[in-house]
Amino acid sequence: MKKYHICIFFFASLIAYEYSFAQKVSANEELGRSIFKELIEINTTSSAGNTTVAAKAMAKRFLDAGFPEKDVTVIGPRERNQNVVVRIHGSGKAKPVLFLSHLDVVEARREDWSMDPFQLNEREGYFYGRGTCDIKDGDAILVTDFIRLKKENFVPDRDLILALTAGEENSDDYNGVEWLLKTHRELIDAAYCINMDAGDPQLKNGKRTTRSVQVSEKTYLDITLEVKNPGGHSSEPSKDNAIYRLADGLIKLREYNFPAQINEVARIYFGKMAEFEGGQTAADMKAVSQNPNDIDAIARLSVSPYYNALIRTTCVATMLSGGHAANALPQSAKANINCRVMPGTSQQEVLNAISDVLGDKQIEVTVASAMHNNPASPLNPEVMQKIENVTNKLWPGAIVIPTMDVGASDGIYLRSEGIPTYGVSGVCLDMDDNRAHGKDERILVKSYYDGLEYEYNLIKAIASGH
Ligand SMILES: [Zn+2]
Repeated sequence: MKKYHICIFFFASLIAYEYSFAQKVSANEELGRSIFKELIEINTTSSAGNTTVAAKAMAKRFLDAGFPEKDVTVIGPRERNQNVVVRIHGSGKAKPVLFLSHLDVVEARREDWSMDPFQLNEREGYFYGRGTCDIKDGDAILVTDFIRLKKENFVPDRDLILALTAGEENSDDYNGVEWLLKTHRELIDAAYCINMDAGDPQLKNGKRTTRSVQVSEKTYLDITLEVKNPGGHSSEPSKDNAIYRLADGLIKLREYNFPAQINEVARIYFGKMAEFEGGQTAADMKAVSQNPNDIDAIARLSVSPYYNALIRTTCVATMLSGGHAANALPQSAKANINCRVMPGTSQQEVLNAISDVLGDKQIEVTVASAMHNNPASPLNPEVMQKIENVTNKLWPGAIVIPTMDVGASDGIYLRSEGIPTYGVSGVCLDMDDNRAHGKDERILVKSYYDGLEYEYNLIKAIASGH
């Protein structure tokens, strides 16, 4: 899953994002391109694809580059959906760090695209193909950088672990990160994780603007509301009707807002984003960043669905069913309520709030799909400083902003198991051209090569100076 932030930037000057189509690529970029191409051209969708083929192809790359066999593991519970885990041994001055990306991609049908989605096409400064921005770019960047470090005989201060996993896009099969944590934690256990699949650096009008660092995310929770009733013949109705009763409850839920929770991340986020906004919105963002209890500013910001989602837990009706015949009183009426829960809020707290709002014992409230415990990752000063340093060195002018995603990524499995996770993708995306999961998915060729260099520098920074 790839999240994007709906941010409106006002820039007086539009500085061109310099790249040349005919740019000469280095040997390292050439390697990065060939690994990217190989990954794009292995179908890893959940219908017809196979992540094991991709995992084995990457394992071969590592073995060919001289990694010992014992440090390259292709593993998973099923033949079709294996993961690959690789380790570079360090001097042990600090605890290992995990670098994460996923191998599987969302479905892509040839007839929906204007080209073959499982070929890497380079056209007019873009790489096209399913997974180019979610997230085979991240896979290829990490593989290339790990191989580069190996070639340089770099000895890190700490073990560097790379995990490319299955099942992120389609977790009804299984999720690779969750499975590795449960069954082979020693393979990926780390002080913290850097995730390629979140925290997109952003381009606006060709200029790098923000370097997001995803430090938390909301958690997914489905709740079922159900009203049961003895029913009867519809020619003799009573006022006590399962559908009406459920509908009354849903109206109450529509009117309810969960309390605002302006946490540390939101305060910093709004404080920095205020610089890119104007007028009342900028004033409200600044106000909230200084006083998280400014009710008026919060109310005005909450009009935007995105800012509202950043501020509070949301629960919304997404599916409805009821009745069994056109001429019978309904014996049951059901609704699915999809909640996106703020970090630090428990499932029980959400259930209690909903029961209170409904105020009707006859509406049964049950959990349809349970929620992971999902604490925010602390704003670890060491990690944030290293990200800041690398960003200032390579991308001067881009502002580092901690963010909370309003959707969900693999970070939840790690955070819920005590491994803080930071989404730090190296590939700059234009938020007006985000094609993740969509038709003709693409990234700028320059963004890809810049990402290779960015992550290489970040890995080295994280592995040095202890
Ligand atoms: Zn993804």
